[in-house]
Amino acid sequence: MSINWTFRTQRRAVVAAAVAAVSVTLGFTTGSDNASVVEETYALPVAACTNPGADDGSFALNGTKLPAGGLTYKTNQSTFPAGLSKIEVQGAIGTAFLTWDADTSKALFTNGGTTVATPGLADGVNTVAFKKIKGSAIAVTTGWFDRKTKLLKEFDVALSSSYSWATNPLATGDCGGAAGRFDIRNVMTHEAGHAAGLSDVTSTTSKAQTMFAYVAYGELTKRSLADGDAQAVDILYGQ
Ligand SMILES: [Zn+2]
Repeated sequence: MSINWTFRTQRRAVVAAAVAAVSVTLGFTTGSDNASVVEETYALPVAACTNPGADDGSFALNGTKLPAGGLTYKTNQSTFPAGLSKIEVQGAIGTAFLTWDADTSKALFTNGGTTVATPGLADGVNTVAFKKIKGSAIAVTTGWFDRKTKLLKEFDVALSSSYSWATNPLATGDCGGAAGRFDIRNVMTHEAGHAAGLSDVTSTTSKAQTMFAYVAYGELTKRSLADGDAQAVDILYGQ
């Protein structure tokens, strides 16, 4: 018996006032075999990357966690953006997963090499790939978990092929990434957080958190965990 949830990462809202106007729908449907939880935030126009401000330590859990020993992910390299080094894209994805692993002694994510699978299907492969996504979402992470134990059985990450991406391997700072492009490692660290059991935080005081729901072009803030992200890992997996 599986439940699945889907998180869509959207573009950062313009200003504080606009963030308050973002509508969030939380749907919960229950069927005979499956229930699904879908969290969607609707995008407002992209704002310039700005300093995230103070770390407010906030976090939210999505009610699931990785099983003992974690899960093994695979990347579909044939979907990687043209013009980017496959090695750099793979490195950005791998580092994103390692960022969560580095925060606990438990094994969370293992690199299982490559796949030709497509994200969004319960096919037993934990797939990370670029893919056309309906609407304005930048990325979508879908998880399937056991209804009783709440342990994750599979997750997939789709990064939208409708946007421009960069790896920015040497970039630093909160906004040091290439202009007009989303930083793969930045977005991927956020998506890996969903697989680890975290949900989005949306308060305008939470912009320093990796799990803050909105992303700006050139932003690198989410590459490193903030206090709230780290506290959630501690609660779920220990130090
Ligand atoms: Zn999210």
